[in-house]
Amino acid sequence: MIISMRPHATKQEVEHVCERIREFGFRVHSIEGEERVVIGVVGVGGDVTACLESLEATPGVERAVRISAPYKFVSKEFRKERTVIKVGRAEIGGDEFVTMAGPCSVENEKQIMETAEAVAKAGAKILRGGAFKPRTSPYDFQGMEGDGLKLLAKAREATGLAVITEVMTDRDVDLVAEYADIMQVGARNMQNFALLKALGRCQRPVMLKRGLSSTIKELLMSAEYIVAHGNSQVMLCERGIRTFETATRNTCDIAAVPVLNELTHLPVILDPSHATGKRSLVPALARAGVAVGADGMIVEVHPCPEKAVSDGAQSLTIEGFREMMQQLDGYIRLWKRERVAEFAAAL
Ligand code: PEP
Ligand code: MN
Repeated sequence: MIISMRPHATKQEVEHVCERIREFGFRVHSIEGEERVVIGVVGVGGDVTACLESLEATPGVERAVRISAPYKFVSKEFRKERTVIKVGRAEIGGDEFVTMAGPCSVENEKQIMETAEAVAKAGAKILRGGAFKPRTSPYDFQGMEGDGLKLLAKAREATGLAVITEVMTDRDVDLVAEYADIMQVGARNMQNFALLKALGRCQRPVMLKRGLSSTIKELLMSAEYIVAHGNSQVMLCERGIRTFETATRNTCDIAAVPVLNELTHLPVILDPSHATGKRSLVPALARAGVAVGADGMIVEVHPCPEKAVSDGAQSLTIEGFREMMQQLDGYIRLWKRERVAEFAAAL
């Protein structure tokens, strides 16, 4: 169950509602938003129907809804309208297809500035670039860390692009939030619960990538952690999962996009780069992302992929990115028309 209090309900009203919930044998998880308090009712306590009916009649309560999914705040049952996250000039989850592009790792000033300018010209609205890198081998490049963040901020200044970059531990949340417009949680950290809780307390949008071996339900439960701890600006990312197939780096679960669109109001982003691991396959998957209703994509681009310190094989060249964007344009327009029609029908 989720209880939405009226905007500006008094503290006493909120406390009274919490007391009633406990009397019914449930636990309380409340979130104080800017306008209102939302209370999550959790646990396998007593009589859900009686509790719901009682709360609907309690002063200060605007709406009490039963939510059968284990993830509450992120479920469609809780919120029918799609979440739209405004970042710089982009509206993620709205009626545009938002492209985030840039190198896997920030390597030096020339590399990030050149890439940022090129991807902005080709239509990206958000610059990606890892400053803290989760690498399989401890001997591989681990990222420029703080210096990388500064270079990303410089590239934002020069191009007007917003910046997405990965945060790997709860200890780095404040530092990364100083520079990033979107905090990326990498696949390997999808269930780093200390990090998820810290991001819940941070007021920056978060992009949560699906874990290498995680189910869609687990992805949604991780998103629930962030929202339940106070940050509702979460988007999800399908980046491929591990299967027996070796022809691609990961197996892109393309169906995850429409499945998530059925289950949650959060925006869904596709990562065709990590999903395939091969430059030649990226444009086809990007088209698939548009077709299945992704809200955007995050794609790796490098001015000289053969010299990239990480993920060169899946990075598009600048020219390749430009071509892909031109080719995608028609698909996006078609998709946008459908999206606008869908919005109009829901009004
Ligand atoms: C990345 O975006 O460069 C990255 C490390 O992605 P993932 O966490 O999906 O492997
Ligand atoms: Mn990468």
